[in-house]
Amino acid sequence: MRWTERQLAMLQEMNVRVFQQPSAAPATSKNPQSAATLVDTLPLVPQATQTHVTPPVVASVSTMSLVEPSSVMSSEVTTMDWLALRRAVAQCTACALHRGRQQTVFGIGHEQAHWMVVGEAPGEQEDQQGEPFVGKSGQLLDNMLRAAGLSRQPGPPEEQVYIANTVKCRPPGNRNPAPEELSACEGFLIRQVQLVQPRIILAMGRFAVQSLLRSSEPIGRLRGQVHRYQGVPLIVTYHPAYLLRNPQDKAKAWDDLCLAVQTLQR
Ligand code: URA
Repeated sequence: MRWTERQLAMLQEMNVRVFQQPSAAPATSKNPQSAATLVDTLPLVPQATQTHVTPPVVASVSTMSLVEPSSVMSSEVTTMDWLALRRAVAQCTACALHRGRQQTVFGIGHEQAHWMVVGEAPGEQEDQQGEPFVGKSGQLLDNMLRAAGLSRQPGPPEEQVYIANTVKCRPPGNRNPAPEELSACEGFLIRQVQLVQPRIILAMGRFAVQSLLRSSEPIGRLRGQVHRYQGVPLIVTYHPAYLLRNPQDKAKAWDDLCLAVQTLQR
């Protein structure tokens, strides 16, 4: 496996050191060997710990609870197309979060992206710009995705990521979303997944996991396995904001991304 200097810089940001010379052949999701080969063959050493990263074990498929869309979606939402769904989100007043928002944050990316990332809730910058993950967490997320040959920018669906949050309005003061807020917004996320029909979902952080897998287990216990959501393989990983506070876990997040690449290739 060979990496471009740009990719090596991104991997370095994630505390992943690669013992390989850079070259002009980048890892792309079009090249199925790329990121997965990193896991399979290269010795990776997280700089923080200087110990080997264990390649993710081929994971068992979890049988954790699947969300039954009908139980949490109004019948109108279940049949909405993109335009109708976007309008419904923009006009939503189903929970108290609508009172403090500048605007709703719907989601971004190719509508048939092969990858879907689910985060938690918009922060201040997302609330201002109307796009998920535009702050510091978003920069880290973009770097992680780019290192795997993926992007939220226009491109072929196999290299594209659709990014959405569990709640579409900013919780005041960036507090955690409350259970009733998560549940009020859940139908929108379910419909987004149905419309995108991703081939893999990355659930980032506690609230994405609570919403999608109905689990309150710690992320550390859920990562390293292939779960399922609406029949789609789902990989649990740390939220980028957590990784900014705990950079020693960036290498684990890279493992999770590699597991997602491997799962998609299978
Ligand atoms: N964190 C999230 O989970 N989502 C965003 O959009 C921004 C920060």
